[in-house]
Amino acid sequence: MATDGSVVQMDHRARNSMNVLMYHRIVDDESRAQRHWTCVHVDNLAQQLHMLDRCGFTTITFNDYQLSLSVEVNLPRKPVVISFDDGYLDTYRLAFPVLRELGMKAVVFVVAGKNVKSNIWDRHIGVPPAPLLEPGHLVQMSREGIEIGSHSLTHPRLIDLPDDAAWEELSHSKLLLEMLLDSPINSISYPYGIVDTRIKNMAREAGYTIGCGVSSGPAHFGDDLMEVRRTAIKNSTGPLGFGLRLLPLFQRYSFLRWKTSQALSSRATPARRRNLPDVAISTVPGNGFEHEN
Ligand SMILES: [Zn+2]
Repeated sequence: MATDGSVVQMDHRARNSMNVLMYHRIVDDESRAQRHWTCVHVDNLAQQLHMLDRCGFTTITFNDYQLSLSVEVNLPRKPVVISFDDGYLDTYRLAFPVLRELGMKAVVFVVAGKNVKSNIWDRHIGVPPAPLLEPGHLVQMSREGIEIGSHSLTHPRLIDLPDDAAWEELSHSKLLLEMLLDSPINSISYPYGIVDTRIKNMAREAGYTIGCGVSSGPAHFGDDLMEVRRTAIKNSTGPLGFGLRLLPLFQRYSFLRWKTSQALSSRATPARRRNLPDVAISTVPGNGFEHEN
């Protein structure tokens, strides 16, 4: 580190502008990729990861970020976190080889319940069933630099649960993954990206140091580590849209949309509020701030 503090300054800027991208399923069937926005074709993923590489981004994990806070490592000039929610088998089969080829890291958030073998939570909205990662896949990916995080035990809306059930989802999923991987699990992504102050406090108490939402939380990474804003990547996100989403200005814009939707929601009459969808206005599919799983 430079004695004049220049590296510290650069590190601070890198932290503030760090983007966290969010994917779900990666598929190799074009028709399936177009059926639901959460399915991104592997060719699109590869194109996007190559673009990150060409543009000088360096992929890091949340554990890397936290090491940098303790000054054990400095962040690269343009850090980015790539995250995958739900822990689909496709993450291992299709995304992992592309990441490995490019020497990139990622964070995979998995549903830790032993009896959850597929995306049963998507059944009611017509998303095709898809198998989830097996323990052996998690062990191998973890050994090769992929950070494994929790996505709860059974993928519920945590804010709807009473304290004891929410605690079970948060703490038991962490424990199961730690026993499997023999290493601390520090990060969680809240199912559906839905979180409130009670759940954030419980997650912190359970030992998590990073909590990921989706299109919510502060514009700057690090301002609220228990509600990290992420940028959803859809199959329809083209090269231009992907490049746009990497800009700090996009984060600011996304943040302002979220704050506006919050203000509108709080001003709505109780009768009108009852008619609002389950997710925030800013997360309606198709407007760039998508409903997240
Ligand atoms: Zn999910």
